[in-house]
Amino acid sequence: MYIDWILNQVQNDGGKMDRSNQLWIARTSRAMTGGACIIDSMQIVISVVLFILGSIMGSFVCCQVWRMRKGDKSRWSHCNRCGKRIAWYDNVPVVSWLVLRGKCRKCGKKIGWAEILSEVVMGLVFVGVWWLWPTAANDGGAGMVVLLAVFLVMLVGVAVLFIYDMKWGELPVGYLTFCVICATLYLSLRIWWVFGVSQFSWGTIWSLAGALLILPGLYFVLYRISREKWVGSGDWLVALMVALVLADWWLALVCVFVANLLGSVMGLVGKKRKLAFGPLLIVGFLVVFFAQGWLAGLI
Ligand SMILES: [Zn+2]
Repeated sequence: MYIDWILNQVQNDGGKMDRSNQLWIARTSRAMTGGACIIDSMQIVISVVLFILGSIMGSFVCCQVWRMRKGDKSRWSHCNRCGKRIAWYDNVPVVSWLVLRGKCRKCGKKIGWAEILSEVVMGLVFVGVWWLWPTAANDGGAGMVVLLAVFLVMLVGVAVLFIYDMKWGELPVGYLTFCVICATLYLSLRIWWVFGVSQFSWGTIWSLAGALLILPGLYFVLYRISREKWVGSGDWLVALMVALVLADWWLALVCVFVANLLGSVMGLVGKKRKLAFGPLLIVGFLVVFFAQGWLAGLI
């Protein structure tokens, strides 16, 4: 189907396609040739830009998590110990940390590995999303770019939830709401662009309903029955976000399986305090999201 679309596009445009269409075609043909990468310079530029954007977001996420914990409402970042405002040139993601060797310029307090780790990981995740993007929008460039942008914005919220839950076993309500809103927008755009409103069949609706039942449905019941002993109040909202983005009962089922498998392995290895379920669900979600093409072929 995509091959037909590309051939039509190339013929109709007579070689005068805009840049986004050319890019989309380059990516699609890369996917179709089974990984034989056609890396042009534009791909590298996009990857670098996305890495920089991701690392800035990683820095923001780290900062935001600490501020929320301390109830800090100030506009600028401060050192945790001496309270000195951090200048813009000391706030450049990755680079500043390396230049200052992970210490505050004034008092020498260690900033910690979490900062640079979050910046590098977010940078890599942003690049990874571009290269591994599983769904192509039928209208070519614009639809794909908008879907991808909504997904990346949602990932910033997801990163805040991930770190906060890992550190303190709680999920901030504001960011939960933000992620659910992003996921709803993502699904609406997908229905409009990818499935096409006219092609939106009962099968798709049942599959979405199944995903909602398996993920938020199950976790909401567990949360109510156990009175927050097994599952926290925020976990079912994370599950709701995941279900809206995956919109498929089979993918939802695999996601629950991966999250629980991961939890069991970590429980066996770690054996310490109760595991937070949010981060496990988020990791399960990302694994399933990027493997969805392969997973869909299994049934
Ligand atoms: Zn300091």
